[in-house]
Amino acid sequence: MKVVYETRTCGRCGGSGKYSWNPSDGDRCFGCLGKGTRLTARGRRAHAAIEAQLTVTTADLKVGQRIRTTGITIGGQPFRYNTRITALPGPTGSTCRYKNGDGPWVEKEYHTVEYLELGGKSTVKDHTFLESKWRILPNRDELVAAVAAVGKLKGMTVEDDEERS
Ligand SMILES: [Zn+2]
Repeated sequence: MKVVYETRTCGRCGGSGKYSWNPSDGDRCFGCLGKGTRLTARGRRAHAAIEAQLTVTTADLKVGQRIRTTGITIGGQPFRYNTRITALPGPTGSTCRYKNGDGPWVEKEYHTVEYLELGGKSTVKDHTFLESKWRILPNRDELVAAVAAVGKLKGMTVEDDEERS
């Protein structure tokens, strides 16, 4: 099962995905990132609604759940990878104090979440906050629940890849 969002042909490149050459992007059209299509306005709304359903806080994570996270290369460049939650050990007992603008100082407790390191040989113990957000990579049930939660929205279609009998 997958969700397909409504797109239209990119008006900038006419659907070729290519535009005038520049040193950083080559001839890739930045209107569509080289895809040749862009989400329509209602496609964007549907996409945002589903993304919101697939974004959970630390408190809602479950062991075994697949997530997308960010690692840092030795050169200091961030990169994304997909992994799986292996343990939710909970509060660390250590806190962090911060303040937003002129607001009051707030003290928040760090929680740890463990997930498989890139390559899957060991685990990463990530210090996070209970209200930190994670993008899950849904299994079929989680995707079904996300689609049900947003209801019928124009701008998306749900394709069922299950074999029909
Ligand atoms: Zn384009």
